[in-house]
Amino acid sequence: MTVVTIDGPAGSGKSTVAAALAARLGVVHVDTGAYYRAATLAVLRAGADPSDAAAAEAAVSGARIERRAGRTMLDGRDVEDEIRGPLVTAAVSTVAAHPAVRRALLPLQRAEVGDAGAVVEGRDAGTVVVPDADLKVWLTASPQERAVRRAAQRGVPDAAAVAAHAADISRRDRLDARQMVPSGGAVEVDTTGRGVPEIVDELVRLALSAAGQRT
Ligand code: C5P
Repeated sequence: MTVVTIDGPAGSGKSTVAAALAARLGVVHVDTGAYYRAATLAVLRAGADPSDAAAAEAAVSGARIERRAGRTMLDGRDVEDEIRGPLVTAAVSTVAAHPAVRRALLPLQRAEVGDAGAVVEGRDAGTVVVPDADLKVWLTASPQERAVRRAAQRGVPDAAAVAAHAADISRRDRLDARQMVPSGGAVEVDTTGRGVPEIVDELVRLALSAAGQRT
């Protein structure tokens, strides 16, 4: 079954494109960032310092993180909305930088990918989570467009909000740099100024052709 990875920086359009592509291909959409966000919420709830590797690891290993029908669960409760909020967003890259946290979350992410085909979205989906994916995509967009999109998603697209998102995005890019290496063989797609349907059409074509070459 077809497995596609979609990696790239915050605001490059990954989530929207990955969800639409998964629906078109009839496979699950695995959002690997959701695991890092849920882990970060576990760290914050434990009162641990996100930059303390041992404390973060302890909080994450004591937490039960699951994904059910596109929602993220922490210790049996739906935290999908909370993990998208500013507190988690501010701390997530610090928590995600701890190798022990990454090691703890990897098997959960791979279990969700399963073997029935998937679109897997993240930073290291093509390099670490599913290195043998049929198609690997690296999405980019200009820094300005990424900030405008984030502000629009949050419903406040004025100049101050765009500037705040631009600062947050460049901070996360810096912290995420180690994870943000395009996989060898990844197809780079610049989404700047392009609509989602057009990009998804392109990726459906690429995915079907990659799956065809495998069979
Ligand atoms: O994709 P999203 O913005 O939800 O990811 C939140 C954060 O989780 C990223 O900024 C990054 O720090 C971390 N992350 C990661 N590896 C992934 C996915 C996300 O380190 N595969």
